[in-house]
Amino acid sequence: MAQIHTFRTDDAGLKLIHEKVVGGERLSSQDALTLYRTADLLALGWLANYVRERMHGDKAYFNVNRHINPTNVCVAACRLCAFGRKKDAPGAYTMALEEAFQTAASGYSEAVTEFHIVGGLHPDLPFQYFLDLVSGLKRRFPEVHLKAFTMVEVAYLAKRAKLSLAETLAQLKAAGVDSLPGGGAEIFADRVRHIICDHKIDGEQWLETARLAHKLGLKSNATMLYGHIENDEDRVDHLMKLRALQDETGGFQTFIPLAFHPDNTLLEHLPKTTGMLDIKQICVSRLVLDNFPHIKAYWQMLTPKIAQIALRFGADDLDGTVVEEKIYHDAGANTPQGLRRQELVRLIQQAGRTPVERDTLYRPVVRNQTSVTVAV
Ligand code: SF4
Repeated sequence: MAQIHTFRTDDAGLKLIHEKVVGGERLSSQDALTLYRTADLLALGWLANYVRERMHGDKAYFNVNRHINPTNVCVAACRLCAFGRKKDAPGAYTMALEEAFQTAASGYSEAVTEFHIVGGLHPDLPFQYFLDLVSGLKRRFPEVHLKAFTMVEVAYLAKRAKLSLAETLAQLKAAGVDSLPGGGAEIFADRVRHIICDHKIDGEQWLETARLAHKLGLKSNATMLYGHIENDEDRVDHLMKLRALQDETGGFQTFIPLAFHPDNTLLEHLPKTTGMLDIKQICVSRLVLDNFPHIKAYWQMLTPKIAQIALRFGADDLDGTVVEEKIYHDAGANTPQGLRRQELVRLIQQAGRTPVERDTLYRPVVRNQTSVTVAV
């Protein structure tokens, strides 16, 4: 779609970046810092929107999915987290397999195309539980894509099963995992990671797990948790590491900047992110991650209103219907737990974009009264 407005700014740094962006030139770490530090949100948005429209025109993607969190029991005690519980703590739960299958079925009425499955690092559940969970879901819902287990969970399962990462991933894939979500990346910088999620695998291990998954033919997403104690340099370092790995493997589909929600976490004293930071983060992600096909404005964390605006500031995806979200709602998110398909369509249309329902691999989904077809 042709740009309606001409680019204008008084920020000399942005003028130079404008030339690079229009010329299709890759941005440097210094450029990324300049983008984070500008106050000219409209000029930044112009640039991000220029790239977004060059890649996707007016299309804005969403999917019809359901989240399944099999357990919130977790051996780690990340300060950023309001979801994980010790085994005997109030509110701790672990689904029996049959319960997980029923949960999956309860979202099925809207003809979901994806189950998004993540949970805590349970100290007792054997690897076989997760293999059975995946193969059981695949048997019951063969046409639904299983996007399951973050790099952090995969690394923990490997450790518990005393298997290599590659073997763990291969067994999960053989059981029915189709791709991996992008969670657990947080911020790669050790300084920050030690404070917010000391018990998790480090940034290098996260990247190595993603590398191995991609080599096995499993696509994944990638995330970054922002708006806590990280600084601009930490964010740039994170984006650059993802971009380098994507150059190597091409296995990432979508980058999802995640706004930190402090309520009920050990970082509760921190303020929530502002609308300015949320939108700026989407813009910078689109401009720096030139090799990522998609940038997602995850409505659950940003609110539907901010996510909708983000569709004109670099984002091309809103995520999906979700149905039942636990992780950010435990951390005080006051968004709805799910949105109906029709509401996602309305948000996109009112942003002046063309809604495209996609499956997890971004193939268009065609629906009629009685059937769902994925275009291949
Ligand atoms: S963020 Fe994940 S690994 Fe950390 S405590 Fe929460 S559930 Fe456990």
